Amino acid sequence: MTAKILNGKDIAASIRANLADKIKTSNYEEIPVLAVIKVGDNEASKIYVRNKHKAANEIGIGCEVIELAETIGENALLETINELNDNPHVNGIIVQLPLPKHIDSLKVLAQIAPSKDVDGFSPYNAGLLSYNHPDTFISATPKGVLHLLQSTGINLSGKHAVIIGRSNIVGKPLSMLLLNNNCTVTITHSQTKDLPSITKEADIVIAACGKANMVKSDWLKDDAIVIDVGINRDEQGKLCGDVDFNDCIEKSSFITPVPGGVGPMTIAMLLSNTYEAFLRQQKHPHHQCCNKNCCKH
Ligand code: NAP
Repeated sequence: MTAKILNGKDIAASIRANLADKIKTSNYEEIPVLAVIKVGDNEASKIYVRNKHKAANEIGIGCEVIELAETIGENALLETINELNDNPHVNGIIVQLPLPKHIDSLKVLAQIAPSKDVDGFSPYNAGLLSYNHPDTFISATPKGVLHLLQSTGINLSGKHAVIIGRSNIVGKPLSMLLLNNNCTVTITHSQTKDLPSITKEADIVIAACGKANMVKSDWLKDDAIVIDVGINRDEQGKLCGDVDFNDCIEKSSFITPVPGGVGPMTIAMLLSNTYEAFLRQQKHPHHQCCNKNCCKH
């Protein structure tokens, strides 16, 4: 059997079109605004920020990119975040990762007002996710993965999902999200012994480890659903995922390509979270500056 390809590009385009329509036809006086903080000159970050900026503008979300020098001190960065927290015209705030080594990422992410933390990376929103609380902002990549899984029409309840990778931005929040959706979840990482024997048990394999073409067809059981989060370059310099797509396509029931799978979904979900933050702040404007964990909205 050849897998059905989960076309993230098309699904994301329809999510963006839907958001654009909602924003265009809404009666609010203001438009949603996303602030993106970029520190330093990381080449990959530049591309990611440019893509987010373009995608936001295309659907009627304002995007303010704040470019800060690599050498900026931690306190100055925290102060920039405070100003954005206090700015009623800014609805969502993200800090493009990675940050330079002299800056404590956790401290920075914790500074973002929970009500504006549209990446969902702050410890407060990560905590709400683990409580399966509806007020959290679910991180964009895990949310995009869930959307792709739901697009298969398969009931996720009781499915065994094996996640390869335990990062704070993908593997861990994804594990919580799938648990919240009644999957049985196994998280694996670089110290996991005999990984293929574990993935072979999975109904759903999600690769998020950043190792080009690592997952092979003999790592899969028949008809597994395979989601590839990885973005890598192969030996020829071509963009590829963590899954050997050509090898695995025959063995799986659904599979995501790279590019055109999880990547576009991530941006669509960031925009969706920004719109959601905007709506929440329209309903509860007095809460939008809150960064003292008193915010219940
Ligand atoms: P990361 O912070 O480097 O984490 C990688 C994780 O994979 C770690 O938990 C690591 O284990 C694990 N790992 C590494 N080598 C492994 C191996 N041989 N076997 C099993 N596990 C292994 O990366 P990340 O930020 O989560 O990103 C992962 C990949 O997704 C990257 O390719 C990144 O570019 C991509 N990504 C894509 C999107 C998107 O929108 N499509 C978004 C975010 C990230 P340890 O914890 O033991 O080190």
